Amino acid sequence: MVNSKENLLENALSELQKVSGIIGLKDDYRKILEKPAQTLSTSFPVNMDDGTIEVFEGYRVQHNAARGPCKGGLRFSPEIDLDEIKALAMLMTWKTAVVNIPYGGAKGGVVCDPWKLSPGELNRMTRRFTYSIMSVIGPDSDIPAPDMGTNPTVMSWVMDTYSMLKGRTTLGVVTGKPLELGGSLGRTEATGRGVYLTMEEALRQKGTSCCNHVTIALQGFGNVGSNFARAAHENGGRIIAVADAYGGVFNPSGLNIPKLAEYAARHPRRSVQGYPEGDSIGNRELFELEVDVLAPCAMENQITLDNAPGIRASLVVEGANGPTTPAADDVLMDKGVTVVPDILANAGGVVVSYFEWVQGVSSFFWSEKQVTDALHDILVKAFAEVNKTRETYGLQSLRVAAMALAIQRVAKAIELRGIFP
Ligand code: NAD
Repeated sequence: MVNSKENLLENALSELQKVSGIIGLKDDYRKILEKPAQTLSTSFPVNMDDGTIEVFEGYRVQHNAARGPCKGGLRFSPEIDLDEIKALAMLMTWKTAVVNIPYGGAKGGVVCDPWKLSPGELNRMTRRFTYSIMSVIGPDSDIPAPDMGTNPTVMSWVMDTYSMLKGRTTLGVVTGKPLELGGSLGRTEATGRGVYLTMEEALRQKGTSCCNHVTIALQGFGNVGSNFARAAHENGGRIIAVADAYGGVFNPSGLNIPKLAEYAARHPRRSVQGYPEGDSIGNRELFELEVDVLAPCAMENQITLDNAPGIRASLVVEGANGPTTPAADDVLMDKGVTVVPDILANAGGVVVSYFEWVQGVSSFFWSEKQVTDALHDILVKAFAEVNKTRETYGLQSLRVAAMALAIQRVAKAIELRGIFP
């Protein structure tokens, strides 16, 4: 069984320590980067449909704003805790820096099971939480976005609540909004598309490409997993297995992804469980399949010491945040498996969030082609820069190289700005 509660923060701090040593980062800068700049913890009441009052716990953490306003998702999940949110905020600082967009990192969330709340309860909970974090968010300070358990509708409610309290419509306060409300074309697909684009770059280095019927095993069929699968399928990749929180399906000839997506859309929890065109498969077996690419696109701590030795893919593309523990990462490296790290592989979402923010604050909207072309250019450039960093430091790991590049960029911004006062 995978330990999904392994301490993400301890892992993030140990990676920061390791990479700081490799690039010779001054201790002064490391000390700044170890701590989130601002942490807001809140308990807030919500009227439930049955007439009772429920008290929810929520967080917003801003890790570092040296390169620009903080940016990061809002998660609604029963499993979150403050340490996890701190770690994910730090990851966002690295992610925005590695793709070189002018943001810092943040993350937030509410401890709840959104599936158990009625639409009215979810709406009231979101609005009251937005009120609680009102003092720290804003288009120039901290811009939330969807993450696990949240979606464009939730972002509309955050935007509306903020706008009502400010007395003016403020499109730039959140990204991932519905198209009718200042959302960007291509935002929904962006993270999955980015996972596909970075996978193609890694395959290109191995002298192949998705169109050579590369075989793929995929964990997670939500926003990231399903859009990655669609892009890979459209470009000739063969996705032979998909598993999610409720079950999985395996078909060695390749799954028909549009049909699978239609099936999942009809399932109450959007699961692939019971899809008829294949055999059932569990998460454990999926990770050990003989495939070219393994794409963990569900959640953190899925590749651990427990299952890493059995992985047979030669490329792992991390669609999820933090799906590989540091110890498992070492095992994969020893086995010669290439890992495209989360801060690069799933950065497509924050890149198009940046485009959405730019469109919102300038009130000028782009075509989908402009969005996808600009996303492609940014991710291909970022992949090349990470590779160059890997060569410069004689590294084997793309993760260490990506973090080295990101930490250098953030440290440089801190150095140029100086310490106030
Ligand atoms: P989602 O809620 O849309 O989908 C999550 C998927 O993972 C679902 O298919 C769910 O059934 C599956 N899942 C959940 N728990 C599981 C478990 N224990 N075992 C197997 N499958 C499980 O979420 P999403 O937006 O697709 O996000 C997935 C991951 O990608 C998260 O780590 C998130 O932080 C990261 N991410 C998302 C975005 C984005 O734009 N949505 C951007 C960057 C990173």
